[in-house]
Amino acid sequence: MNAQPKGTRYEDAYAATVAGGDADGAGGGTGAHHVLVLGAGYAGMSAAVQLGARVGRRQNVRVTLVNAQERFTERLRLHMTATGQQLAELSIPELLEGTGARFVRGWVTAVDADARTVRIDDDRVLHYDTLVYGLGSVADLGAVAGVEEHAYTLNSPEDAAALADRLARLTKGNGNGGSGSGSGSGSGSGTVVVVGSGLTGIESAAEIAERHPGLDVVLLGRREPGATMTPKAAAYLRAALGRLGVTVRSGVEVVEVLPGAVELAGGERLPADAVLWTSGTRVSPLAAAAGLAVDERGRVLTDAALRSVSHPEVYAVGDAAAIRQGYGVMHGTCQGGMPTGVHAAVSIVRTLKGKAPRPFRFGYYHTPVSLGRNDAVVQFTRPDDSPRRIHLTGRTAARYKEVVSAAPWPTYGRMKKMPASGAVWPRGGRFTRNGAVR
Ligand SMILES: Cc1cc2nc3c(=O)[nH]c(=O)nc-3n(C[C@H](O)[C@H](O)[C@H](O)COP(=O)(O)OP(=O)(O)OC[C@H]3O[C@@H](n4cnc5c(N)ncnc54)[C@H](O)[C@@H]3O)c2cc1C
Repeated sequence: MNAQPKGTRYEDAYAATVAGGDADGAGGGTGAHHVLVLGAGYAGMSAAVQLGARVGRRQNVRVTLVNAQERFTERLRLHMTATGQQLAELSIPELLEGTGARFVRGWVTAVDADARTVRIDDDRVLHYDTLVYGLGSVADLGAVAGVEEHAYTLNSPEDAAALADRLARLTKGNGNGGSGSGSGSGSGSGTVVVVGSGLTGIESAAEIAERHPGLDVVLLGRREPGATMTPKAAAYLRAALGRLGVTVRSGVEVVEVLPGAVELAGGERLPADAVLWTSGTRVSPLAAAAGLAVDERGRVLTDAALRSVSHPEVYAVGDAAAIRQGYGVMHGTCQGGMPTGVHAAVSIVRTLKGKAPRPFRFGYYHTPVSLGRNDAVVQFTRPDDSPRRIHLTGRTAARYKEVVSAAPWPTYGRMKKMPASGAVWPRGGRFTRNGAVR
C-alpha cells in the first residue's frame, strides 16, 4: 500500500479538484511547505480553519483539507437525522473561502508515511510536509456478529437517513416484516432496539421515542444509562427515558444481531424491527497501516504537542488520536476534539516560525445529553470527566445542549476572522499540569 502508483499525478489531480486551485497546488516542486489535513470533522475543521486563517495567503505555506464530503457532518446531531429531522446545509469549501486553506473532496485510501504522501480514492496522491490526521471514529461494526448486516448505525448522514426511512415505514405500518410491522393501518407499531447505553444510545433512544411514539423503544446496555453522572442526575435521566416510554435493560450483553432480533448472552432473543448499534467505536486502520505508532484501538499515539510519537511530522487530533493527559487518555468528544485541532494548527505555525510547540492541555467541563427536543441533562464535570455535584435538567438543559450542538460552525466562522478566539478552552488546572508529557 505504500508504493506510489504508476502514473500518479500529484498536481493535476489537485488542480482539477480544488476550486480555485493552482497547478502547483500540493506544494510539490514549489518550495512551499504543504500542510495536509485529513478529515473535516470537528477536530480537522478546527485545524484547517485555524491554519488557513493564520497562514492566510502566504506563498511559502499551503494548507489543504481532505474530506469525504463537501457538506460538514454535524455528528452531534445525527440522532436527529435518524428521526427524519433536516439539518442545515453547511458547505466546507464555502467556509474556507477567504482563508489560505483549500478543500479536496475525496476518500483517503492510504497514507505513505515514508514518502509523505496520501492517496485519495484511486489515482490521486497528495504530498505533505506536515500531516494533520483527523479521520475520527465510527461505531464498531465488528463488535458482535450480525451488526454489519442487520443493524443501523449513525456512522454517516446516509446511515442515519437509512434508519429514518426505516422508522418512518414502521410508523406508517409498512415495515415489511419483523414483529410489529406490516399492518398498513397508518398507525403502525414495532420494536426498535438501541444497543449501547452510552450517550449516543441514550440520545438516540430518547429521540426515536419522542418522534415515533407508536414504536416500542428498548435501550440495551451493560451499564445503567447515566452511569458516569451523579445519582441525582442519572435518576432524572432514567425517569425522563421512562416518561418517553423507553424500556431500559441494563446489565445485558448482546452477542449477535439477527434479522428481526437481537440475541443476549444466555440465549434470550428480543424481537426487533430495527436495531441501532451505538456500542463501541473504532478508528480507521489507515494510521496503523502507514506504520504510525498506534494504541490497541488503532488511535495514533501522540507526544505532549500532539505529534505522532513515531512520526513527528504527523499531528493527530480528535477521536483518531490517543492523547494522554494527567488523568488518562482522552476519550472521543467534540468538546475535546476541537481544541486538539486548534492546538495542532497553532503548533504547526509555531514550528514554521522556528519555535517549539507547547504541550497540549485539556480538561473536560460538561456532559450534555439530549432527551428529545425539550428535555436534557447537563452534568458538569471536573477536568478528569468525573461528575461535579451541579447539573441542569429540563428545558434549561435542552437549551444549553442546543447551544453546544450549534456552536462549532459559528466558531469556525469566528476563527476565520480572529484565530485567537478559537484558542480558548479549559486547560484542566492541576489535573493536567504535570501529566501531559508522555
Ligand atoms: C449522536 C452523537 C451525539 C454526540 N454528542 C456529543 C456531544 O454532545 N458532545 C461531544 O463532545 N461529543 C459528542 N459526540 C461525539 C463526537 O461527535 C465525536 O467525538 C466527534 O465527532 C469527533 O470529532 P473528529 O473530528 O475527531 O471526527 P469526526 O467528527 O468523526 O470526523 C471525521 C471526518 O473524517 C472523514 N473521514 C473519515 N474517514 C475518511 C477517509 N478515509 N477519507 C476521507 N474522509 C474521511 C469523515 O467523513 C468525517 O468528516 C456525539 C456523537 C454522536 C454519534
